[in-house]
Amino acid sequence: MALSFWLMRADDPFRDRYARGTRSMTASEIRALFAVAARPEVVSLAGGMPFTAALPFDVVGDVLGEVVADEGPAALQYAGGQGDPRLREVLTDLMRHEGIRGSGGDVVVTEGSQQALDLISRMFCDPGDVIVAEGPSYVGALSAFSQYQVCHVPLDDDGLDPDALAATLERLERDGRRVKLLYTVPNFHNPAGVTLAASRRERVLELARRHEVLVLEDNPYGMLGFESDPPDALRALDPENVVYLGSLSKVFCPGLRIGWALVPPALRERLILVKEAADLCSSSFTQAVAYRWFANYPWKETLKGLRELYRERRDVMLEALTEDVPDGVTWTRPAGGFYVWVRLPDHLDARAMLAKAITARVAYVPGGAFYADGQGGSCLRLSYCFPAPDRIREGVRRLAGVIDEELDLARALGGLAAGDPDRDQGRPAGWGGVQ
Ligand code: PMP
Repeated sequence: MALSFWLMRADDPFRDRYARGTRSMTASEIRALFAVAARPEVVSLAGGMPFTAALPFDVVGDVLGEVVADEGPAALQYAGGQGDPRLREVLTDLMRHEGIRGSGGDVVVTEGSQQALDLISRMFCDPGDVIVAEGPSYVGALSAFSQYQVCHVPLDDDGLDPDALAATLERLERDGRRVKLLYTVPNFHNPAGVTLAASRRERVLELARRHEVLVLEDNPYGMLGFESDPPDALRALDPENVVYLGSLSKVFCPGLRIGWALVPPALRERLILVKEAADLCSSSFTQAVAYRWFANYPWKETLKGLRELYRERRDVMLEALTEDVPDGVTWTRPAGGFYVWVRLPDHLDARAMLAKAITARVAYVPGGAFYADGQGGSCLRLSYCFPAPDRIREGVRRLAGVIDEELDLARALGGLAAGDPDRDQGRPAGWGGVQ
């Protein structure tokens, strides 16, 4: 039974008492399907879980032991709300790899970058304020922004489309709407897999400045490039109008729950207050572990190994898509990160198809989950980060079979067939050339 149904039960004794902001929150039916997708016979190309089994556990064990032995009382104590100063310096060094010259004094450590999304949006937005975000956008950001209005700007193979951004910001201004944030994942996008071209970055920043919109740059995958490093971070180009969010979840492990925000100095004290109100401080223990990992251990080697592992899986997925998936289906070719964005012919419904896919023992995330406004119905996200290569190959083969059957069914029912020139009508702009 769909969980959304369960959450809205008429016999819920508290149903009239929930705050407006959480009343509309529902766990979708997708969640219920994912309970089935967790069965071992199903190949899940759905979740974006980093492959933590590749970490050197003996070394991680050494680090944990050292923290307890060398700084046990402090590591098991409350800490400052801004985060461990040693860790903040190490994070500043990490950001140098992306051209950022920041100060550890302007870093606030958070419980994953997910918490930073929540804190920053709460700091700036009142219910009804507008956040402009890529379409599609990271589903966890859409959840964090659920009390605000998200207005999507399309992406193409080169990331956020600056012309569409300009038009959207002008339209919203004309309509008297207050746009508070531009949320963007410029590198190895979740879910689209694309990277914002260097040539677009200045223009995006200039538009944000002109419209007095703060940029929220979310960059958990920036160090997971397979072919080359991505262009310099937006924050490197405009330190005054960009809040940069980083995370150790993909370059080390998500279980420590360590992310951070590098903010313009004027925002620092307020963000610390908001963070302390939420949780007093992040875990001293996991911050000490993360500090030692990056300060004293060969983390670059581990990261190189992770990049190689994910690149191999990406290659396997792209190869399998090319071999198996029928004409009329297109997809992105990520140069890093975890995700491939797939476009089915417009008349196919990825959400409706999911139940059939799970019956065929493969799972994905329907594209509609990545839009706040109902777009994305004929799209889906595949991730290659977690399953072993042979499982990825098998999963794509099963998915291709399901798509084939859907296309056959549509043909038999007289719907638009793949290859029909009409099928592109009604697509959001920007993806025409994606393959
Ligand atoms: N932003 C993006 C784009 C993500 O993909 C994720 C995790 N999937 C997050 C933020 C949150 O990551 P964490 O809280 O683990 O740092």
